[in-house]
Amino acid sequence: MFCADKELCDRVVELCQQLIRVDTTNPPGNERLAAELVATELGAAGLEPVVLESAPGRANVVARLTGSGEAPPLLLAAHLDVVPADPSRWRHGPFSGDIADGCLWGRGAVDMKNMAAMCLGLVCRLARERVRLERDVIFAAVADEEAGCRYGSSWLCDEHPDLVRAQYAIGESGGFNIFLGAKRFFTIQVAEKGFCWVRARVRGEPGHGSMPREDSAVVKLAEAVAKLARRGLPPHQTEVVQDFIEAVAEAQSVPVGLLVRAVGASGALPGLLRLVPDKTLARPVAAMLANTACATVVRAGEKTNVIPGVAEMEIDGRTLPGQTDADLLRELGAVLGPGFELEVMRSAPPVEASPWRTPLYERMAQAVLRREPDAAVVPYLLPAFTDAKSFARLGTRWYGFAPLKLPRGMRFADLYHGDDERVPLDGLRWGTEVLAEVVAGFAAAGS
Ligand SMILES: [Zn+2]
Repeated sequence: MFCADKELCDRVVELCQQLIRVDTTNPPGNERLAAELVATELGAAGLEPVVLESAPGRANVVARLTGSGEAPPLLLAAHLDVVPADPSRWRHGPFSGDIADGCLWGRGAVDMKNMAAMCLGLVCRLARERVRLERDVIFAAVADEEAGCRYGSSWLCDEHPDLVRAQYAIGESGGFNIFLGAKRFFTIQVAEKGFCWVRARVRGEPGHGSMPREDSAVVKLAEAVAKLARRGLPPHQTEVVQDFIEAVAEAQSVPVGLLVRAVGASGALPGLLRLVPDKTLARPVAAMLANTACATVVRAGEKTNVIPGVAEMEIDGRTLPGQTDADLLRELGAVLGPGFELEVMRSAPPVEASPWRTPLYERMAQAVLRREPDAAVVPYLLPAFTDAKSFARLGTRWYGFAPLKLPRGMRFADLYHGDDERVPLDGLRWGTEVLAEVVAGFAAAGS
């Protein structure tokens, strides 16, 4: 049975370092150089990668390890672009790829050049060793995830669906661990929220700025923004979140477990979470319990001495699995009150691997637990969106599982899009071993 050795883990560290050193900040993206690096490595291993440009400089790479076809394909997916970084706020340059303090530093170290490097190193080794597979393993390294996937996975799935169609996919963003109390939990993302971006407009009497009025469009909008932030939208139970709460409860001592269970069942959790002082923990959990709506752009007025007749805001709305745009608009309307015109600017439905307890899920959980018997594995709902949205359109069941072990005191939420993004070398090697075990075990013939 194939497993990751030191040579593979070392190569993954080098590949991750090389990828970090290629600046793929999006916008503008410019993934071409990174895509060529990936394609060169794949070619050297005897694979025949295809580099596909959706627009000048916006390149995607796809390669396929061909199996016997006894089972349907498995897709490994990673995006090559990264979000912007302000170098003045970093201890090591965001494109330095420095190795210091046991970590590899740089933008993309955890989102998600680590995963790109792990998939790349692994696929190349499986090819070199001619491991017999019962299913094809496809690797897609894509552009433009950080700006909405248009030039990456979305384009790829529209224009070249046959290259990337698979039964299952493994991509971002789970696989890392979080600490809750004394316990460690490794996440497997089995669902992600939809998004529904809304423009909300309100009107009022225009007038002269010398004579203030409390019913102006600006005042109505300001009150609505505050109300939305304070009140939020009502909670809904979803299967994945119930299972998450169950798993967390199970791993805690009995009284805590009972409490978490009782709270989870009664729907009082959102209110309680507001009291949790650690907001980096409370916010993502709160986002798993309800549709959310966040005012992000507000617009009104052009002249200091004129009360404008109209004011508007753009709202970043997110929908839970099982919820629709119409549900979100109804809930939003109830909070904002009458007088607001709501218009959907752009939306995409939630994605859910349903049912998610599949042989692949069990393999991922086992690969983690075999190495970390004191930890627990939990299904996870991502409040944001990823390339899963595109691949799910092809009928692919998506798991966010980019395995990464973090030491206590280093939190994924702080690293993700944060300053000083870095990946612990031990954690990256650990992830390589886990991913190799999962992929080889799931795809190799006779396993
Ligand atoms: Zn990402």
